[in-house]
Amino acid sequence: MTSKEAIAALRAQLRGELIDPEHPGYDEARRVYNAMIDRYPRLIARCANVADVIASVNFARENELLLAVRSGGHNGGGLGTCDNGLVIDLSRMKGIRVDATARSVRVEGGCTWGDVDHATHAFGLACPSGIISTTGVGGLSLGGGTGYLSRRFGLTIDSLLGADMVLADGSLVTVGPDENADLYWAIRGGGGNFGVVTSFLFRLHPVKTVIAGPTVWPIERTADVLRWYREFLPAQPREMYGFFTLFEIPPIPLFPDALHGNKMCGVVWCYSGPREKAEAAFAPVRAFGPPAHHVTLELPYPALQSFFDPLYPTGHQWYWRGDFVDELSDQAIAQHALHGQVPTPQSTMHLYPIDGAVHDVPPGDTPFSYRKSKWSQVIVGVDPDPAKKALVADWCKRYHDALHPHGAGGAYVNFMMDEGQERVQATYRDSYQRLVAIKRNVDPDNLFRVNQNIRP
Ligand SMILES: Cc1cc2nc3c(=O)[nH]c(=O)nc-3n(C[C@H](O)[C@H](O)[C@H](O)COP(=O)(O)OP(=O)(O)OC[C@H]3O[C@@H](n4cnc5c(N)ncnc54)[C@H](O)[C@@H]3O)c2cc1C
Repeated sequence: MTSKEAIAALRAQLRGELIDPEHPGYDEARRVYNAMIDRYPRLIARCANVADVIASVNFARENELLLAVRSGGHNGGGLGTCDNGLVIDLSRMKGIRVDATARSVRVEGGCTWGDVDHATHAFGLACPSGIISTTGVGGLSLGGGTGYLSRRFGLTIDSLLGADMVLADGSLVTVGPDENADLYWAIRGGGGNFGVVTSFLFRLHPVKTVIAGPTVWPIERTADVLRWYREFLPAQPREMYGFFTLFEIPPIPLFPDALHGNKMCGVVWCYSGPREKAEAAFAPVRAFGPPAHHVTLELPYPALQSFFDPLYPTGHQWYWRGDFVDELSDQAIAQHALHGQVPTPQSTMHLYPIDGAVHDVPPGDTPFSYRKSKWSQVIVGVDPDPAKKALVADWCKRYHDALHPHGAGGAYVNFMMDEGQERVQATYRDSYQRLVAIKRNVDPDNLFRVNQNIRP
């Protein structure tokens, strides 16, 4: 049991806040994005700086407290919090410094991707990330990071130049290609297993505006559209990106009123090439089908990044399952056609392309082991109503059970719930033993274990 004196001493040491169950902000502070996760930490250290992180890591180790680390709190399995332990909440650590000349950005561990996009867009630069701007930089980057710019510039980790991190013994280290290279390798996909990353250094790319929008077809055409999509997209230049989705049309002006509430299949595009070539790039898309609706708009990149944020506010019930997919077989397509009717308006299935520049990096260069897969698939059951928990979870599991035999074996580590050690090992494949060896070196007692755990 942690003594009152020890807690008071930690509180006195922090520039940030130490929140306990008696604190009026405790309920707000313990909440994470997925409302299915309802945990009661003993303490939440809302760190203001690196010194606070060091003090908190030392406190957890010395007092044998379970330790969770939170950046954006978006993790589906709730790995940004824990019961009865200490949560290091990085959300106050939002420092960002763009170096426009070097085309890089230094980002503190509590930033969301919206924070980063806002800062870099002012210079006409962007870092590849995900598709929702409220997602934390920490969790997304440490797992890999796939999104609208993946085909062109690779995963988020392929733009990671280095990081500062606090290890289990409380020491601060800088990692990069020439410094602590093993740790630099491990954090590019190995999750939060190795320490608290207090800041990331990313390479930036020249992206200002993009031409983006959805094309949708009736759900009965799912099999035809998927057969077309699996051939079409990989043959396109890397500037062309489009994730396939099965979903219900939301009641927003982007779609005609007549389609609102219809279950459909579609592709959400992001073309980041020269404007004058966009018309030709989209010509085959408009011709296929023909679609029920096709619209593209020229948007500032941060506007696309935050486009779907209002549809997915914090506090909904989330249940998801992922798989990497090498080839979309006819059998897999038949299962999508069978199971892809979403049970609630926000539930969806996405196939994120991970070909193009993602394939340029050899599989062993980072722990992200599915460099030859073409897609990262996720089935997501979502609803605001807690009474629909079982409905969305059951649909997700049933759909996943049908698709999993057609996948590549593992899943993107950031699309996993609590699915057991076998699934974690299947995700890292040949990289797993190297990750274990590094973990033994820096965290032999597994202080950092509230994650998809690499067991020392
Ligand atoms: C709406 C939504 C959309 C998404 N879209 C995408 C997408 O387009 N592409 C994609 O790749 N993923 C996507 N994801 C998945 C996302 O990458 C994961 O949920 C990820 O874990 C979220 O990161 P976070 O920092 O917000 O999470 P948190 O819950 O804060 O943390 C997740 C895990 O990372 C660890 N961690 C976080 N920060 C640090 C740090 N600084 N140091 C050490 N460990 C840390 C935590 O300990 C925990 O284990 C999406 C998720 C949601 C909910």
